[in-house]
Amino acid sequence: MKMSRYRAILSDLDGTVNRGNMLIEGVRAAYEDLSKKGIRWLFLSNNAATLAPDIARSIVRLGIRVQEDQVLNSASALIHTVKRDYRGARVLVVGEAKLVQGLEDAGAIIEQDPMVTDIVVTALDTTFSYEKLKRAHVALQHGALFWATNLDSTYPVPDGFLPGAGSIAASVACAAGRPPDRVFGKPSPDMAFLALELLHLPANECLVVGDRMETDVLFARNATMASALVLTGATSRSDLRNFGYHPDHVIPSIADLPDLFAQLEDH
Ligand SMILES: [Mg+2]
Repeated sequence: MKMSRYRAILSDLDGTVNRGNMLIEGVRAAYEDLSKKGIRWLFLSNNAATLAPDIARSIVRLGIRVQEDQVLNSASALIHTVKRDYRGARVLVVGEAKLVQGLEDAGAIIEQDPMVTDIVVTALDTTFSYEKLKRAHVALQHGALFWATNLDSTYPVPDGFLPGAGSIAASVACAAGRPPDRVFGKPSPDMAFLALELLHLPANECLVVGDRMETDVLFARNATMASALVLTGATSRSDLRNFGYHPDHVIPSIADLPDLFAQLEDH
């Protein structure tokens, strides 16, 4: 039997696997079918308010049996980088308690004094204040690095959208007069490198699946991976003409992935 060239799926979550607390129809069957054929799945999220194990548990609650190491989110990607390359760094966090705890566990020193801060980290922070903005700003003025979990301006909630981590990063960036030095969420290649490291696979054996052109498809492009756009979320087929780049495949839903893999095997 000829095999598809893809050995792993890097799947987005919201708009692709689920809409809030609802699984998109046919996801579980597609997941189980391709898993049985040896295709590996890694779920990628730009969520910056919680850590990968919590997201894995929420996917399990929705009815898909994933392991903790099958999830990578922007906060966990940033933490992983601290753990590997920046242990002992003094980090000033504009973010939530889970991120702070994760950074501490990874070997960072959580800093309140902007004058001795090595890295300013911005994430989703529901208690963001002028005081926090000021501290981040002073730290950057004194030479700290500026890392953002992700630049999503908003994030989806059941009745619409709320300001996201990107809105907080943008206000810090506005005051500082410069963009973040590093961004960890999609479409940043940082998340792609980590994902490929976790999977031990080259980019050309991975397929990115997602519902957003400017995060998922661009993410795949930035990391020289193939992409499949699903039409169950933010993008409709007619939106495609508004972009100067295109996904390799367009499928109605993630439920259609087994068919896509079968077609690729035949060619
Ligand atoms: Mg999405």
